[in-house]
Amino acid sequence: MKRTAGAVTVECVRGDITAQGDVDAVVNAANARLEPGGGVAGAIHRAAGPGLAEEARPLGPIDPGEAVITGGHELPNRFVIHALGPVYGQDRPEAELLSRLYRNALALAEENGAVSVAFPAISTGIFGYPIEEAADVALRTLRDAAEGLRTVRLVRFVLFSEQDLDAHERALAETF
Ligand code: ADP
Repeated sequence: MKRTAGAVTVECVRGDITAQGDVDAVVNAANARLEPGGGVAGAIHRAAGPGLAEEARPLGPIDPGEAVITGGHELPNRFVIHALGPVYGQDRPEAELLSRLYRNALALAEENGAVSVAFPAISTGIFGYPIEEAADVALRTLRDAAEGLRTVRLVRFVLFSEQDLDAHERALAETF
C-alpha cells in the first residue's frame, strides 16, 4: 500500500529489512552500544558483516530517540541508520522518544543525500511497544515531517508479519 504527501511517497510492505536493495538507507533497530544483537539488529549485522560493528561501535553509546549513520558494508544499501527506540514502560515519554527517533533518522538521511529510506517497526519487538501505537506515532511523525524533506522521496515501512503490516496500513490510511 502506498500514499503520497507532496513529493514524498510512503509505502508499507511485508518483508525483510536486509533485503531492500533498491533503497539508499535502511534503519536498524539498534541497541545502545550499537552492537549486533537479536531481532533487526542481529539480521542487519549478519547481512552486513563484521565491518558494520567495527564502524558503529565507536559512535555509541546512544540514548533512546537518538540515531547515528554508517556505511552499509555488505548490505545492498549505501547507509545504515542506527536508531535506539524506547523500551515500552521504561523510557518515558515513549511516544515522544519514538517520534524523535523518526525525526533524527530522517534528518541523517537528508544530511547524507539519501533519496529512499526503509524502516522496520522500531521498538515493537524486544522493546515491547504495542504495534498499533507505534505505527500511529511513526506515520504521524512522517506526515508532519514530509513537507520539510528535501532529498528523501520514498519512505518504506518493512514489516515482518501480516499483523504488523495491517497495523501500519491502517495508520497510513488514517494519516495520509
Ligand atoms: P526493538 O528492540 O526496537 O523492539 P526488534 O529488532 O526486537 O526491535 O524488533 C522490531 C520489529 O522488527 C519487530 O516487529 C520484529 O518482528 C521485526 N523484525 C525482526 N527482524 C526483522 C527483519 N529482518 N526485517 C524486518 N523486520 C524485522
